[in-house]
Amino acid sequence: EKTENLLEINNLVVRYGGIEAVRGISFGVPKGKIVTLIGSNGAGKSSTLRSVVGLVKPAAGSISFKGEDLLKLPTETIVTRGITMVPEGRRVFVNLTVAENLRMGAYMRKDSIDKDLERVYTLFPRLKERSWQPAGTLSGGEQQMLAIARALMSKPELVMMDEPSLGLAPIIVQEVFEIIREINKEGTTILLIEQNANMALQTADYGYVMETGRITLSGTGRELAENEQVREAYLGRA
Ligand code: ATP
Repeated sequence: EKTENLLEINNLVVRYGGIEAVRGISFGVPKGKIVTLIGSNGAGKSSTLRSVVGLVKPAAGSISFKGEDLLKLPTETIVTRGITMVPEGRRVFVNLTVAENLRMGAYMRKDSIDKDLERVYTLFPRLKERSWQPAGTLSGGEQQMLAIARALMSKPELVMMDEPSLGLAPIIVQEVFEIIREINKEGTTILLIEQNANMALQTADYGYVMETGRITLSGTGRELAENEQVREAYLGRA
């Protein structure tokens, strides 16, 4: 059975001056699935995501979303096509309240957002309790939840997450991944990049291992979690 790829990346190359950060990678993100790119610091994962949303201009290759070439579009337009990114390090607006942060996530929309606010408050009850607090007063885990909730406010079909577990305590990491599964169950496709290979592979339908700009291994989340090389290099046990 062939699943339709929502996002398709072919032979992507990203260069920064003389550094080739991404060296011709190809992969697809099937509609309705969770796909993860794992790999160590500097492997080229962020550069790949940033290329998708137009924050980096690739040197070569193609990126398409629902068959449309994204490389021609500016970032604002890409968001309206149905892709949002949850950036690394959360980056919520610390001086704005939780509710204001959520409204910022929907700034491109012209329709009513009341239903979506309700939906994210149902998914994240703690954000509802704290809706009037400045985001800067939230814990790290709550700020990550807020960053994810804010991304959902634009009603994306594809959410891309850059290291959502970074700097969070293990118990909070569990919560973040539960939320990711929940959002996916409700129909949102997810592309997740992670150094926390363990959680990412447990959660993802498909995974790709990136090393110095190349994809070196791929498979289902389970296959990769059981792969000897992956276990040695990324899961800290042989
Ligand atoms: P990280 O987990 O640190 O984000 P990553 O796998 O996402 O790692 P990238 O951030 O894509 O990797 O970086 C890939 C390579 O490109 C690294 O060698 C990095 O130093 C380099 N790089 C990234 N951004 C820039 C930039 N703006 N200018 C120059 N070099 C960069």
